[in-house]
Amino acid sequence: MLFIVAASSLSACKTSPIGTSGAGPSPGRSPAYPPSGVLVLYDTGGQYGSLGELYAVQAGNLASHFDAWQSMPVTKYTSGTAQKYQLTIYIGSTYDEPLPEAFLADVATGLSVLWLGGNVWQLIRKYPQIGFQTATIDDAAPTGIRYRGVELTRNANAGGLVHAVLSQGVYSTTLAEAAMPDGTSRPWAVRVGGLTYVAEVPFTYVSFDDRYLVIADLLFDLLAPKTPTRHRALVRIEDVGPHSDPAQLRQIADYLHSRNVPFAVAVFPVYDDAAGIYSGGVPVHRTLSGTPQVVDALRYMVQQGGTLIMHGYTHGFAGAPNPYGVSAEDYEFYRAHVDAAGPWCSTARCRTTPRPGPWAAWTRPARSGPRPA
Ligand SMILES: [Zn+2]
Repeated sequence: MLFIVAASSLSACKTSPIGTSGAGPSPGRSPAYPPSGVLVLYDTGGQYGSLGELYAVQAGNLASHFDAWQSMPVTKYTSGTAQKYQLTIYIGSTYDEPLPEAFLADVATGLSVLWLGGNVWQLIRKYPQIGFQTATIDDAAPTGIRYRGVELTRNANAGGLVHAVLSQGVYSTTLAEAAMPDGTSRPWAVRVGGLTYVAEVPFTYVSFDDRYLVIADLLFDLLAPKTPTRHRALVRIEDVGPHSDPAQLRQIADYLHSRNVPFAVAVFPVYDDAAGIYSGGVPVHRTLSGTPQVVDALRYMVQQGGTLIMHGYTHGFAGAPNPYGVSAEDYEFYRAHVDAAGPWCSTARCRTTPRPGPWAAWTRPARSGPRPA
């Protein structure tokens, strides 16, 4: 069992950004009607093109905190669409995805755009006045990201960054810096006019103290800048199911309650270890309805300030390895396997495809979300 502590946003700390330079901000164009919502544009081309839509879901998850959101492949973009939204997020995950001229032209008008990762060179080539001289991929992986006085980690597996060089004299604000292995630092997130540029797609190899938090926080500046500073965290008790120890669950609840810490409990109702990997070869299949002591412990956790979150139904395939064959270690909605390269799934090693059958339709990635209540 894991405690997962997700730091809430480092939000809206009123410390100043790392640095500004240049002559003065260029005003963005204001449309005739008030724009609202968030548009997420993603790549679809190349060998890993299907990842683009998953990154869009991650961006949509963050945007959903603020407003309604909608996603679509960037190749489907038509002129003027971004003007209807308060913010457009473009996720450049496929090298040299051919970006529509209409999209580049609309970004160049100074609309509020958050651009993550690659292909910014297409914008620069066409619209050098945007404020960048060049952008190239640099394979050197930074050792960390500095943001508002906080050092955030970055897994070296996430690879290099886009090295974007600003034009001379352009007014810009460095929002976060990458600490490079040679001891230098360079902008990781920078704002020029309406464009906020981040030197990577920060949705890979994410961990709880990771640079992903910068994006979560920057969205406050972009979508709700008046949000008061609140340093909150979420505690989530992970992978609780019919296999869990009721005494341990009660102990956790007692401790967190004694410290006045509200918490979430990620629960799945069916536990399956068909090959008996953790039980000496004896198959295990347990349900919550068959383990009333666990149900009682869950009720107790709620009384002590816990919120139950459904964390899948089986957290695996139930009966077949996917990839290991044990609930809480396996994928439920995607087919997965591990190749000879290693025992653990990682983006590079574990190729996923949608689970066959009705699941594919039930678990289609969300393409839009409503305004939060
Ligand atoms: Zn889990």
